[in-house]
Amino acid sequence: MTQTSFFPDIPRVARALPLLGEQKDIRYFASPSRSVLNSPAATGMGFWSINPYLGCAFGCAYCYARYAHRYTTERLTSSDGASPAAFGDELPPWLAFERRIMIKHSAPALLRRELARAGTLEALRNERMVIGTATDPYQPAERRYRITRGLLEVIAEQRGMGVTIITKSPLVTRDIDILTTIRDRSRLCVHVSLITVDRELARRLEPRAPTPEARLRSIARLRENDIEVGVNVMPVLPGITDAPHQVDALICALAQVRASYVGACALRLRATARTRYLPFIAAEFPELESAYRRAYATGHQVGERYRSGLRARFKAVCERYGVAYGYPPAVENQLGDPMSADSQLALALEPS
Ligand code: SF4
Repeated sequence: MTQTSFFPDIPRVARALPLLGEQKDIRYFASPSRSVLNSPAATGMGFWSINPYLGCAFGCAYCYARYAHRYTTERLTSSDGASPAAFGDELPPWLAFERRIMIKHSAPALLRRELARAGTLEALRNERMVIGTATDPYQPAERRYRITRGLLEVIAEQRGMGVTIITKSPLVTRDIDILTTIRDRSRLCVHVSLITVDRELARRLEPRAPTPEARLRSIARLRENDIEVGVNVMPVLPGITDAPHQVDALICALAQVRASYVGACALRLRATARTRYLPFIAAEFPELESAYRRAYATGHQVGERYRSGLRARFKAVCERYGVAYGYPPAVENQLGDPMSADSQLALALEPS
């Protein structure tokens, strides 16, 4: 995937973006996007994707999606005469990602128009659409702007689609009314991201994201409404969330809330995630810093020996608790195996 292909629709502008609102230390801006549905050809991924927002207020330390925000900022500010203050450029890019959120306020209308294009619906019926590959579609902004809900209303008008929603937020349960309609008319699964059930650890790693307990409750509610819920244990953080007792506690909790299946993937560290994550490790887990630098010295992946050991651990624990390990064929055929070294799914879903 190239960075330039991810947001092919954003024009260069020589002005600041319109400010829509503020909430504590977060500012919301109107996104200049003129399309919302990214095709597999545009992103290089094997599925369609939609991101209702640019940036994400949950601010996970390991988030890889920060690059998307930086790319957008640069496009907005690099043309001749552009304001250097398109939004929050007083903040370093990694922090602007969390505090300067762009709202795709016309996304539902754009989606309706894009679905009406010849051939798009047919393609979508054979492939899968993933909502939330580079942002959380149910981050706090969604309470006010309701962009994701608007998109789901458009999707609910259609039949025969394959839809995956990725989130860390229990706000997804607000939309159970629409989700059940989509479930009845299409193939729906919600992927809730959860890497630990240790509340204190989660707070250090994902400082503004909902607690593990809140996410577990949302899984239970979705399952009570017969909605498939896969759980993305992504990324598994070496030395931090991968101990046998941690994996055991996590899968045990997922069994209790009847999660439909579990996918897991070890941390990948590409350039922009590395510039945020390694200093974070140095500050928060200094005893692990040199091991991380060694493990990721020659690439973005930790070694195959570690990954195959992790796969075996998850498989065994899932079997013990009766939780399906890995994605069901209908999902894996379209999104791939998250554990595989070149998994497109893992590349797209690492953050959320
Ligand atoms: S990992 Fe997901 S939830 Fe966390 S900041 Fe990135 S996009 Fe948001």
